[in-house]
Amino acid sequence: MQPIEQFFPELSKPFKGIITCHQKPDGDAMGSSLALYHFLKSMGHDVKVIAPTNWAPFLDWMPGVNEVVDFEANRAISTQYINEADFIFCLDFNILHRTKNLEPVILNSKAVRILMDHHQQPDTPSFGFGISDVKKSSTCEMVYDFIVLSGHSNLINLDIAACIYTGLMTDTGSFRFPSTTASVHKIVAHLKELGLQHSIIHENIFDQGSEARLKFMGNAFLYRMQVFPELNTAIMAIPKADIYKFELKTGDTEGLVNYLLSINGIRFAAIVIDREEERKWSFRSKGLFDVNIFARNHFEGGGHANAAGGRSSKSVDETAADFVEIIKTYKNQLTQ
Ligand code: 5GP
Ligand code: MN
Repeated sequence: MQPIEQFFPELSKPFKGIITCHQKPDGDAMGSSLALYHFLKSMGHDVKVIAPTNWAPFLDWMPGVNEVVDFEANRAISTQYINEADFIFCLDFNILHRTKNLEPVILNSKAVRILMDHHQQPDTPSFGFGISDVKKSSTCEMVYDFIVLSGHSNLINLDIAACIYTGLMTDTGSFRFPSTTASVHKIVAHLKELGLQHSIIHENIFDQGSEARLKFMGNAFLYRMQVFPELNTAIMAIPKADIYKFELKTGDTEGLVNYLLSINGIRFAAIVIDREEERKWSFRSKGLFDVNIFARNHFEGGGHANAAGGRSSKSVDETAADFVEIIKTYKNQLTQ
């Protein structure tokens, strides 16, 4: 993988570009994809954003989101776009299987792949150009850097600002995680100077939920949570019946795992949700306990040191029981 700076000269020649991100795009994946989309369009390039799957409705306000193609719902046209592309920008993931069913289409295309990502252990041989930096708060921060370092900060308009702010804010837990550097605050200051209205973005992201979602959460805290104070760990296991009963939509469970960390003393939180095709794990930690390694070792996953995901093909009760056994072997690391 060549450094991203080697790609800058290509920006002055018109190209056909695809921008994609991980399945079930979150605020950072969608924000970075759309920020890059607006930037490349304003440079005169022919670009399309293709999301591997659908996304949470709380992202539907984002500028340009109506132009995003959902691959699962539009396979033929997406495949055609990808086959015609010169470049595929891969944002907020670093290994192609995170694009799920889009992976074979990407592999089949002759387009050069460009990586911009902040997760651990990038599969660099899969990319022609790119940047991978685990110290960055978000891929949105990296798209901002890309625009500035390539000499085009004058092109950052309010649409781009809103998209970048979304990923900065969501991936830093509203500017509280250790990844919130001085650079992050300087970017926000710049976006504010451009006229960004940040409160509206917080409302759009956090205040669009249904009444049923809040009832689901109350039910989950009452009946689906187990706390292991002796291991500084809490876990929640959500059966499919809850998803149906409370008519949950994509994104309705996002952030739920973080509440477990609000319990005094809890430093490791896990939630497993019974999805259609698999049991999906989310892991969060505070301090030194590395959930990326934990997810890789036990639940076919990965991510960051303090936020990672994984999966299991077992039933939700079985995989939750596995988790309870596994954490006992980490007692020293969890209690030091
Ligand atoms: P979440 O729990 O919000 O789904 O994911 C937490 C973090 O881990 C996100 O940065 C996400 O991209 C990453 N992540 C989630 N699942 C996986 C996975 O299966 N593999 C890898 N490598 N990263 C994941
Ligand atoms: Mn991210």
